[in-house]
Amino acid sequence: MDTILRCPLCTRPRTAADIHGLEWSSHHGPGGVVFVCGPCTRARLVDLECGLLDPARASAPAPDRVARAA
Ligand SMILES: [Zn+2]
Repeated sequence: MDTILRCPLCTRPRTAADIHGLEWSSHHGPGGVVFVCGPCTRARLVDLECGLLDPARASAPAPDRVARAA
């Protein structure tokens, strides 16, 4: 059974194909593992890798920001 999650940055659903692919990145924190979609990972790579952005605490952006992140 696969658990379908959403990207915490853009709310994109994580499909079964995404789970078996390599595009999404995983981020491990005290609250568990959070998966960030490929476009958000690429757009926020420096923030994610340097610890400037905690995806577990990120709230979904306004709809106008989703279009720019995708
Ligand atoms: Zn995303």
